[in-house]
This record gives sequence, structure tokens and C-alpha cells, in this order.
Amino acid sequence: MSLEIEGVSRRFSEAQALRQVSLSVRRGEFVALLGPSGSGKTTLLRLLAGLDFPDEGRLLLDGRDLAPVPARARGIGFVFQSYALFRHMTVFENVAFGLRVRPRGHRPGEKAISERVNGLLERMQIGDLGRRYPDQISGGQRQRVALARALAIEPRLLLLDEPFGALDAEVRQSLRRWLRTLHDEMGLTSLFVTHDQEEAMAMADRVAIMREGRIVQADTPMALLERPADAFVARFLGLGREFPAVLGAEGLRLEGFEGVVPAERVALADGARPGPVLAFLGPQDWAVEPGGEGVLRHIRRDGQRDLLEIEAGGRLIEAEAPAGRFSPGAELRLIPLAARVFCV
Ligand code: ATP
Repeated sequence: MSLEIEGVSRRFSEAQALRQVSLSVRRGEFVALLGPSGSGKTTLLRLLAGLDFPDEGRLLLDGRDLAPVPARARGIGFVFQSYALFRHMTVFENVAFGLRVRPRGHRPGEKAISERVNGLLERMQIGDLGRRYPDQISGGQRQRVALARALAIEPRLLLLDEPFGALDAEVRQSLRRWLRTLHDEMGLTSLFVTHDQEEAMAMADRVAIMREGRIVQADTPMALLERPADAFVARFLGLGREFPAVLGAEGLRLEGFEGVVPAERVALADGARPGPVLAFLGPQDWAVEPGGEGVLRHIRRDGQRDLLEIEAGGRLIEAEAPAGRFSPGAELRLIPLAARVFCV
């Protein structure tokens, strides 16, 4: 199935949660919604699930407008962070629930339910837990049950809202890989909400970055890192430190630093023009030389390179150098070599 979100807005009394959001998700795609708290991620999922309604815009599943389709008839599965399993039901009954509440006529028989549920539990690698209650299994297992329950109805679209948020880092890592494989093997189309950048970049075909109710950029992880659309995206993805700078015909000058970054080493974002700009520099964008105003405060060895933390101009700047070249306390000069530039 394919999903089209077209100019969707949603306002709550005090908050404009979504502003003219548009996004296309192709069949079989895994798209992550990534953004700070309050940027509208959950609101968008709730609209798709049919738990809430847009003030304007349209949601289309395979070209069909979802507005008149009630939540239960949308064929959308969802999994939320808080598992929301029924505590008084066994794992088996939790997974079977979505099938049992189907209208008569669409409801499978007991044997079909049993086969479907047991098949899913096997697939989730929790085939032996069917008789237990949610309180008797681990957090990671509960999350697998929640996923099995969402998948039991054979959804056309799977929505996941911070599904691993409550789990520890190790379990989270392994569930990530597992979920992505499951998505591919089952031919799912998935929309995944997270505020964990690493998670989004590791799992998704495309990542839609949200800010204050808007999608500011939706791209592959590689494209986001190489061509962030604006300073917010670059900042959010941690693509270096920010410096006020001036872009001129001869190149880029950073305020408070010597040297000019030649024009061919300056990556210009859309809309960046000569004049005052905001420059982003990562550790690899500096040359470090002995003798200068900066003081080397800390060194982290990374293979053949040292990552230096240099205090200069009242702030800490990270720069790379060959391993072992400098020692803590050294007085150093930082020379900018390359930068990514955004309009102010
Ligand atoms: P988080 O990462 O913290 O879950 P989010 O990106 O999912 O955040 P939303 O939950 O979609 O953000 O919220 C977007 C904005 O809408 C926020 O300002 C929030 O306070 C507001 N909001 C969400 N739901 C409601 C509601 N039912 N009533 C009033 N305001 C709401």
C-alpha cells in the first residue's frame, strides 16, 4: 500500500500541532519521523490511526481518502511505547484480540485464529509465551507481543510510536535489527516515530525530520547527512559546531579565526548568499597547528586519529589530528579548512 499525507494541519487549543504537513510513503518503505519533543510526531500517527482528525488536508491510503473510514476499518496496525497490553488477558488472547472483535462475517474461526496467533508468536520468537500474562514477561517480550497484536489484523500500514522507548540500550539494538528484518520479510509499509537520531538513521529508508508541526526535510539518511536542508537539521543531526561567519567572493571567514575557507570547500545550503552566514564545522574541518590562543583540554584516541577538545575563544571546539601529535595543555591554533553554510 502507499500513503499520501497532503497538507494536513491540526490545532489544539494552545498548540498548532501540525502545519500543512505533506509526505508520501511508498509501498514497502520504512519511514522514520524524527524530531524534538512536541514537534507533532505522535499527532500525525494518531490522525492516521483514526484516533483523531485533521482540521485540514487529506490522508490517502492507496489513493482512498481515509476521512470517512473509522479507525477499525482502516487496516492500520499500531504499536505505542506503553505496550498497552491487556493485563488480564494471556499473551495469546492479547494477540487474538484484533481478530475476535471483527464484525461477524469478517471474523475468522477459532482454528484460523489459533493458527494465525501461534504463527505470529513463532515469528516474533516468543512461541512459548502464549499462556503467560503480560506481567510475567520482560519488557522486550511485551513489545514483541504488542507488535504481534498489531500484525494479527494483517495491516496495510504499520505505525510505531517510540516502540522501544522504555527498553534498555542492548535490547533496543537487537529489536531494531529484528524489526527492520521483519518489515522487509513481511513486505510491510511502516511509519516509525522516534526522537533517537541513531535509531532513525540505522533503521529507516527515509527519515522525515519534524520541527514545530512541520516536516522540514524528508530524505535518505545519507542525503540528510550530506545535504541538510537548514541549520535546524544540521544542528539536530549534530553535524558540527556553529560559528558566525561572512561569505565573500574569496571564500568564508569565521569570526575570531584566522584564514579563509576557499569557496570550493564551502558547501552552501539552499538560500545561502554572500554576507553574514552561519557556518557548521565538524572535527574533520579544521587544521591544527602548534602555537596559538587555543588550549588542548582533552584527547580521545580513535584508531589512527586523535579527537582533540580545544578551548578557544571561550568555547570548546572538536578537531582531528594524527594520533599522538599533541599532548594535553598544548597551545594550538585552529584553522578552518571546510564548512557547511546556512543563511542566518
Ligand atoms: P514527543 O516526542 O514528546 O512525544 P511529539 O513530537 O510526538 O512529542 P505531539 O505529541 O504530536 O508531539 O504534540 C504536538 C503538540 O501538540 C505539542 O505542543 C502538544 O503539547 C500538543 N498536543 C498534543 N496532543 C494534544 C491534546 N490532546 N490537547 C492539546 N494539545 C495537544
